[in-house]
This record gives sequence, structure tokens and C-alpha cells, in this order.
Amino acid sequence: MNNHPFHRFIALIDFDQTVLGLFDRQTHIAHEIAHVERQLVGQEEQYAHRQRSAIEARKAVDLIELEMKELDQQEKDKKRKLEQLSNYKESRAFQSEIDQLRQAQHDLEESLLHAWHTLEVREREKEECAHRYAESKIKLQTEIEKKQQELASIKVELALHSNQREEYKKAIPQEWLDKYEAMRLRVTDPVVPVEGDTCSACFHELLHQDVMRLTRGALLECKFCFRFLYHKNILNNS
Ligand SMILES: [Zn+2]
Repeated sequence: MNNHPFHRFIALIDFDQTVLGLFDRQTHIAHEIAHVERQLVGQEEQYAHRQRSAIEARKAVDLIELEMKELDQQEKDKKRKLEQLSNYKESRAFQSEIDQLRQAQHDLEESLLHAWHTLEVREREKEECAHRYAESKIKLQTEIEKKQQELASIKVELALHSNQREEYKKAIPQEWLDKYEAMRLRVTDPVVPVEGDTCSACFHELLHQDVMRLTRGALLECKFCFRFLYHKNILNNS
């Protein structure tokens, strides 16, 4: 590292900007993880919904089948009784009840077919959803893991940075550091180069004499936004 205070100062600023970038990246990744986690929950809910729909369809089938069984049993009972009857009038009444039971069974058969069809559709939907969910779950979980690894490596990097920063601060005049620290609390780019003859942050135009001083290596404050200004040429000479 060049030991000229100005160079060290600019190096410190670059360094701080890098750290700032790491913090931004950290926040960004945390948001991305939250987003992927929401996706995962959404798909879980969708799959749970499909499962419930299939269970409901199965229940509907079971219910109709139970009803069919009961009708069947009633019919059998009535037939048995009918065989024991000798009274014509009574027999006819029984026969008519049996006919009604058969009609009811016939009607139920339609409903059962419909319920079976619905169950088939719901089961297929559930299977398809399970397949999609399983695939996507692996993908999303891998994505989350990757992002968490990136977060961990940023954390390690940031831990190293806090030690390195002390190194960077050496040989920089305390006055600069104080001003810089104060400015840093207000803006993310407290030190900026001059571009043309203006401050590259607020575009305030500088006096010619100030530009001259900057080219000779001075560090000035912008009279408008109070950021530190430097001239890029200084970094190339010396
Ligand atoms: Zn300015």
C-alpha cells in the first residue's frame, strides 16, 4: 500500500465502500431467502390443498357406497319377508317398496359413478402436484442453502474487514478521519472525485483556484454538499 496519507485515505474510502457493498449484499440475500421460503410455503399449501380435495372426494365415494350397502340390505330384508308372505295385498305393497328401493339404488349408481370420476381426477391432480412439489422443493431448498452459504462467507469476510480497517486508518490525519466519520453517518459516499470542474455527487461547480489546489493534491470540502473532494490525477502521480 502506498504510504502517502492521501492515498491511504482514498484506500480507506474504497475499503469502506466495499464493506458497504457487502452489507447491501447481505440484506439483499436475506430478502431473497425470505422470498424463496415464501414460495416453498405457498407450494406446500397448494399440495396440502390437493391432498384435502382428494380426501374429500374419497369420503364422498365412501358415503355413497355405504348408502348403497344399506339399500341393498333393506332390499334383501324385504325380499326375505316377501317370501314369507301369503297375503296378496301385503305382497304387492312389499313388492312396490322393493321396486322403490331398486330405483333409489339405480339413482345412487349415477351419483357413485360421478363421485368415482371426481375421485380419480382429484387423485391425479394430487399425484401431479406431489411430483411438482417434490421437484421444486429440492430446487428451492438447494437455492436457499446456496444463499445461506453466501451469507456465511460474507459474514466471515466482514469479520476480517473490521480488523483490516484499523490497518487502513494508520497514517491518515486525525482531522480527515473525524470529518470523514461525521460525513459517513449522513451519506454513503462521503468522499468523491471531482469530474470536470464539479463535485461528482451534487454537481456543484468549483472555483478555478480550488480545482488547481485539488490537482496539486489538496483534499477539499464541497461548499454545497460538504463531501470531501479529490482529484483523480492525484492517484496516478506519486
Ligand atoms: Zn458536492
